[in-house]
Amino acid sequence: LLNLDADVAIVTGAAAGIGRAIAMTLAEAGAAVVVTDLKPEGAIEVADAIVAKGGRAIGIECNVTDEAHLARAVEQAVSQFGKLTILVNNAGGGGPKPFDMPMKDFRWAYELNVFALFRLMQLAAPHMEQAGGGAILNISSMSGENKNQRMASYGSSKAAVNHLTRNAAFDLGPKNIRVNAIAPGAIKTDALQSVLTPEIEAAMLKHTPLGRLGRPSDIANAALFLCSPAAAWISGQVLTVSGGGVQ
Ligand code: NAD
Repeated sequence: LLNLDADVAIVTGAAAGIGRAIAMTLAEAGAAVVVTDLKPEGAIEVADAIVAKGGRAIGIECNVTDEAHLARAVEQAVSQFGKLTILVNNAGGGGPKPFDMPMKDFRWAYELNVFALFRLMQLAAPHMEQAGGGAILNISSMSGENKNQRMASYGSSKAAVNHLTRNAAFDLGPKNIRVNAIAPGAIKTDALQSVLTPEIEAAMLKHTPLGRLGRPSDIANAALFLCSPAAAWISGQVLTVSGGGVQ
């Protein structure tokens, strides 16, 4: 049930961190993967690593805030591998910002986390319908539920991702397309490591029953499940993957 031999996936922001782990894991399960990233050389490096392990992948540049890049990613999946059945909207960010941020920073969080993700779902859906169905996975954040200082832009945009996921599940369900999200807790990626002090890590661990921060593979394993036939009757859900942590 976790076999993806018949699938073709697009993963955004897949040159590093969580996206890279998801691309590698889906490929190990048999999917052909269009590895996309803002940084083309990073995407190509990940695709080469998949091919070196006997998998199927291509790496291409895709800035998710550029509609033409999104269209090209979908076109590449279909032209190179014949169809599109899995989309992982992983690229995202924006980070903590002071409440008096310039409006351009607030808009940017929505451009990157919400508008780009929605547009790629729109572009992918007709191809998934043509393939007989598919699975969309949006990478959200626990900030989409939790409230905190400096999270007005990032947190509310991830809340929009959660509700968009639930609504899209209704629009796309009749086409046999499932739409789910993962809300990761703190995952030790390069992005997090750069701001992680021992004090911050200790504070995070206080709220984490399983006693360690997350690894990209923790998210990738959940992603594999949600994109696979094992999750055939799961849609419109936001799965928190956080070592039991709630904050
Ligand atoms: P990361 O910084 O480690 O990697 C992000 C990748 O996305 C990089 O390869 C980068 O080049 C690429 N990228 C950046 N902007 C892009 C754009 N406009 N178009 C395409 N690609 C772009 O990040 P990460 O920590 O792996 O985060 C991945 C996702 O997980 C994000 O949506 C983030 O909000 C979410 N998330 C991360 C954590 C965490 O603790 N790391 C927690 C909750 C949610």
